Amino acid sequence: MADKIYLGSHVSMSSPEYYLGSVKEALSYGANTFMFYTGAPQNTFRLPVEKLRIAEGRALIKEAGLDENKIIVHAPYILNIANQLNESLYQMAKDHLTNELRRVQAFGLKILVLHPGSHVGTGIENGLDSIVKALDEVLDNDGTDVKIALETMAGKGGEMGSTFEQLHHILTHIKHPERVGVCFDTCHVNDEGVDISKVDETIEIFDRVIGLDKLLCIHINDSKNPLGSHKDRHENIGYGEIGFDTLCAYIHHPKLDGIPKILETPYINKVTPPYKKEIEMLLNKEFIEGWRD
Ligand code: FE
Ligand code: FE
Ligand code: ZN
Repeated sequence: MADKIYLGSHVSMSSPEYYLGSVKEALSYGANTFMFYTGAPQNTFRLPVEKLRIAEGRALIKEAGLDENKIIVHAPYILNIANQLNESLYQMAKDHLTNELRRVQAFGLKILVLHPGSHVGTGIENGLDSIVKALDEVLDNDGTDVKIALETMAGKGGEMGSTFEQLHHILTHIKHPERVGVCFDTCHVNDEGVDISKVDETIEIFDRVIGLDKLLCIHINDSKNPLGSHKDRHENIGYGEIGFDTLCAYIHHPKLDGIPKILETPYINKVTPPYKKEIEMLLNKEFIEGWRD
């Protein structure tokens, strides 16, 4: 059972070790998967992949027995494919997304998490239409087999993808549905207003509306804010409004086995990564058995 759980965290990728450093960081947390940005999340400036020590990182992945199919890349969050108001910005977002898919392939990886974007006041229908058109154009031309996992968002501002129905709409209107799935973020879904403490029910709703076969990644975060707050502020596991028991249930739910689960919880005092402790806690058998009774 435990071997079917893939649990890791967001890790950095920075000079001088780049990807090799990312893999080392993940292993130092006792993780068997991880997620990273191929550059700064806030911008689209990217170093050429040749500089990123990918071969050494992949060698260490192999040596450590990690599965590259479970390792996740996150697209820069400023990419917005959800509005066409500014034609040149829209084109730029599509171009960057195309580049990013090719970069993911250069790492030998298969899944790119993408925020669906914001309709920027143009309305949900326009947002959906823009996303579908952009995905069609990008996936027609990128030449990779990398999958995009559209993230469930908290629904602040004009944020798209906050409801399962919107994601379902996108998945059923694109030309290449085999290339697109969903990333379920516990903090975001809570903040959007789904009572994820009803674990079986939530998974069942997801399965009915979107389909569990579309679930490519899960972000495991506690939330600083209550159900339906539309805020999106992550909290450490067990310290927020969702709580340890519920998050632990997602880690160990048999229907979610095999799906990579990634912590994006904040550093402690902004300096210490909490991930080794949080992974230990979430996998601690005695702790869990005590919790199951
Ligand atoms: Fe995200
Ligand atoms: Fe997330
Ligand atoms: Zn978030």
